[in-house]
Amino acid sequence: MQKLQTSIVYLKGVGPQRADLLKKELGIFTYMDLLNFFPFRYIDKSKYYTIQQLYDSNTEVQIIGQITQIQTLGKGRGKRLVATFEDGSGSMDLVWFRNYKWIQEKLKMRTSYVVFGKTNRVQGRYSMPHPEMELESVHKEKINVPLQPVYSSTEKLQRSGLGNRVMNKMMLQLFEEIGKEFLETLPQYWMDRMQLMPKREALFNIHFPQNQELLVKAQYRLKFEELFYIQLQLVIKNAQHKAKVKGHYFEKVGELFNEFYETHLPFPLTGAQKRVVKELRQDMGTKAQMNRLLQGDVGSGKTIVAVLAMLLALDNGFQACLVAPTEILAQQHYEGIKELLAPLSIDLALLTGSTKAKERKGMFEDLLDGELTILIGTHAILEDKVQFKNLGLAIIDEQHRFGVAQRAKLWFKNTIPPHILVMTATPIPRTLAMSVYGDLDVSVIDELPPGRKPVTTVHRYDSNRLKVMAFMRDEIAKGRQVYIVYPLIEESEKMDYKDLMDGYTSIEREFPKPKYQISIVHGKMKPEDKDYEMQRFVNGETQIMVATTVIEVGVNVPNASVMVIESAERFGLSQLHQLRGRVGRGAEQSFCILMTSFKLSNDSKTRLETMVTTNDGFEIAEVDLKLRGPGDVMGTQQSGVLQLKIADVIKDNHLLKAARHYAIELLKSDPKLEQEKHAIIKYTYQQLVQHKNIWNYIS
Ligand code: ADP
Ligand code: MG
Repeated sequence: MQKLQTSIVYLKGVGPQRADLLKKELGIFTYMDLLNFFPFRYIDKSKYYTIQQLYDSNTEVQIIGQITQIQTLGKGRGKRLVATFEDGSGSMDLVWFRNYKWIQEKLKMRTSYVVFGKTNRVQGRYSMPHPEMELESVHKEKINVPLQPVYSSTEKLQRSGLGNRVMNKMMLQLFEEIGKEFLETLPQYWMDRMQLMPKREALFNIHFPQNQELLVKAQYRLKFEELFYIQLQLVIKNAQHKAKVKGHYFEKVGELFNEFYETHLPFPLTGAQKRVVKELRQDMGTKAQMNRLLQGDVGSGKTIVAVLAMLLALDNGFQACLVAPTEILAQQHYEGIKELLAPLSIDLALLTGSTKAKERKGMFEDLLDGELTILIGTHAILEDKVQFKNLGLAIIDEQHRFGVAQRAKLWFKNTIPPHILVMTATPIPRTLAMSVYGDLDVSVIDELPPGRKPVTTVHRYDSNRLKVMAFMRDEIAKGRQVYIVYPLIEESEKMDYKDLMDGYTSIEREFPKPKYQISIVHGKMKPEDKDYEMQRFVNGETQIMVATTVIEVGVNVPNASVMVIESAERFGLSQLHQLRGRVGRGAEQSFCILMTSFKLSNDSKTRLETMVTTNDGFEIAEVDLKLRGPGDVMGTQQSGVLQLKIADVIKDNHLLKAARHYAIELLKSDPKLEQEKHAIIKYTYQQLVQHKNIWNYIS
């Protein structure tokens, strides 16, 4: 490996100036870095098309033909150079919007050119803007690699002449200099089993693909390797965490749990709930700290699972707390859980920002001496003043509102950190969870309680508003309640606020007092006022709730059966799904109405279609991931988490699973990587860790 750590400046043909550019622009410092700088796509130049064969816009094609006419068209910014290009089968246009004077001088009429580029089709006629061009005579003399690699570049690199051609040359030189230097990173027996291409060959074919088949094999090999070493790191981290971080030992299932489970469960648990409870019991019975993410779609019944876990803590002599992201949710949890646990006469308390000082004082004392065993509240629980006697379990509801930092904060309240259970209704596709939260174990409730009627979702244009209003009136007449939600996006906050207020006014007109009562909730209100308005809706005093997305999280109003989302095209998929989850909680058929204007982008259309066709949160999360990419789905906080070099967590899903499987099995059979046949893995892993090459992937 020594040679590969050589500074790039020593590669023949590079020199100090280029080396400097490579470092600054692409982060390439060593031979190894250059070797790992993969093309981001390949141009297939093995095929030639005729103009007649063109069938689609936006595809890259290579055509041989001649220019028969050159003209300058348009004025000002629309000014362009247009060359008519013919090949005997038809005619098309080559178009330039920039540098056209210079180009015009160089173009030769009635001479055979090979042009290459993307085509556009406008009113049945094809054109190719800014084509790559070469005289056919020159083209024929060159040795043409059928698949030409394209490396990403920057303007600065381009201006300094460090384009694709130079990159190609450097790569050739690189392979020459490293010669037969040892490069393999996976054990031979795996390569045989999986029929993987040797590393050296794979690298060569990534930079100089000899044909499509070899390229695919090379990519496969490198993707597997990349995913495997990330997974190996995650699995090792997880094992280390389990070995290092001692946790409270919940050895028994005691009286409280058993009594509640046998006599006070308000409904039989679903299979998924049972499975998750079992997973939690197992985790908390191992003397290692539990660090678990519980994913379950809205309404899948996470609360009861949380309650059972808390009872386990109590049975083993520990306290438990439940942290909710908003005051109203904390309140709902408190009331619901108090009712559930009433027959067991357990003391529980609610702590939020608005808990009175006097009340707090008593509460804090009771927490310290262990009198109070269950505390439910907002992030007020995380303040330093709140000290437990022996907190054994901390449950955090609706994780996406909390930073990981806050989660970690709970750990340091005691010398032995409590078990942590993070519950989220924003499904992170399992594959992503597994590659990002490798240090968290993941449980999934993938089954809704029986008898739930799926929410009917429709898409309506603004022009149908009157009908939608009539529909709302009918539902209200049946005794139901309605949400109307407006987008709030920070950049245009003022406009959004105006939209909301205009909407409110027109709804007031359609639904006049005193027959109808309307709640309004938005971000500019004081928390007390918000809670007051929300509470009126929860209590059924108001029939309509006009709101911005502040109601997104967890509120439970089973009587609400209609969710109208205004300007639905402006919401993200997971947000739409969360909002829809506010209805469909009671026995009645519920509806979600997505209102939009006629102007919709392709992405918006996909989002709306997805919402209309499925209620499955995981399916929605997968589509979301495809539309937005992993960074965004995880929130800006974690963006960049999955900056993979070659693999793609979505498209290469099956490989990701295989890689994880290999990592887990490897560590099972050889936990310290001591076997001779795994020496190569140990060495590579150490190298990667040393050079911080994999740690970059994880935040
Ligand atoms: P979420 O996962 O969104 O937090 P909740 O725990 O609030 O869901 O449960 C949603 C509703 O479903 C509640 O009214 C709850 O009582 C009910 N529920 C939960 N589990 C079951 C079950 N196994 N059978 C029937 N109803 C259930
Ligand atoms: Mg919930």
